[in-house]
Amino acid sequence: MSWAGQAREPDLAGLSRVRGEVRELAPELIALRRHFHRYPERGFEEVRTAARIVEELRACGGYAIRTEVAKTGIVADLTGEAGSGPTVMLRADMDALRVQEENPHLEYASTHPGVMHACGHDGHMAMLLGVAKILARHRDRIRGRVRLIFQPAEESPGGAEPMIAEGALQDPRPDVAFGLHLWSKLPTGYAATRPGPMMAYTEELYLRVHGKGGHGAYPHEGVDAIVAAAQLVVALQSIVSRNVDPIQSAVLTIGKIAGGSVMNALAESVTLDGTQRTFLPEIRELCMRRVAEVAAGIDTALGTSTEVEYVPRYPALVNDPEKTEFAAGVVEALLGEGHVQRDFLSMGGEDMGFYLREVPGCFLFLGAGNPEKQADAPHHNPHFNFDEDALQLGVEILLRLTERFVGGS
Ligand SMILES: [Zn+2]
Ligand SMILES: [Zn+2]
Repeated sequence: MSWAGQAREPDLAGLSRVRGEVRELAPELIALRRHFHRYPERGFEEVRTAARIVEELRACGGYAIRTEVAKTGIVADLTGEAGSGPTVMLRADMDALRVQEENPHLEYASTHPGVMHACGHDGHMAMLLGVAKILARHRDRIRGRVRLIFQPAEESPGGAEPMIAEGALQDPRPDVAFGLHLWSKLPTGYAATRPGPMMAYTEELYLRVHGKGGHGAYPHEGVDAIVAAAQLVVALQSIVSRNVDPIQSAVLTIGKIAGGSVMNALAESVTLDGTQRTFLPEIRELCMRRVAEVAAGIDTALGTSTEVEYVPRYPALVNDPEKTEFAAGVVEALLGEGHVQRDFLSMGGEDMGFYLREVPGCFLFLGAGNPEKQADAPHHNPHFNFDEDALQLGVEILLRLTERFVGGS
């Protein structure tokens, strides 16, 4: 790998050497990914996973490693020997999901019942370790610093925020941040991103409708929480369809209802649990305000009293426009013209948004879908798998992005 040359001009000879090194690393990347896949661990329980990452980083040499950041997270810094320069942050998530894997044909299928890497985070860790290995070999040509963040609990309840609280973005503060997510909905060899908001604000929403219990044959003597809850579910849908500007986006989903105890009694209370997704802060606030107003209106009409509780989860993931343009260009140079979608939007949540709120950067989706390899099931599905050829591409992308900031002889 060459770290020489202009910061903005690709050194083609150097890049071809990167590719050679990554290609040589491919079997190791696959072995690491399969190890993580075989032994998945849930959020904040990634103990064995963290131990393996630390072992690999120590073997690289040169990394200053902080462990147990937000319980199981790792922050590893490689300080270049070619002089001072910016700090580039690269992030991978570590957690698996509460999903029972149904891929009996895979010899590396999960050995932990009910836990599975069904989102590709096993691949994210393998890629970042691949990057770590190659960077460590070229420390003498790095001008500045590279910070690798291995983060727990992305899926739930979120590891980015506690890692930041424990100093992951300090000493020094990174100047730019990048993250990759493997994506089975995109074919291998393609990528997607977007300048500005790309993924949604996510909030949990809990509504508790209180009525007054009574005999099902004498409804006039009580207050039926089920009738109120039913109207509330329908009325909430009018917020997105009637209050939000149709050019903007919002989702309100009630995913769980519980209430009542027997068929012939009025329900005393009903709980409704849901999620709200928005991109813009003003739409987020509008939805929150209207949910409270609609609930209060139904209370007035039907005599119930409803508590509305929002639990904010992740902020919108907002990519820095300039860094995103730069990253999309780098990725397109690698994958080919027309292989980078620049208007990707998702109502999904991603706690990478916490870092990108503080450090300008870009999050990219890297295609890893391939029906010929039975790697096209949706994320979080028991049949999920991804095309391991994408691992090499991910390593190369992260190296190229990093090189542009800290490369220099
Ligand atoms: Zn996921
Ligand atoms: Zn994920």
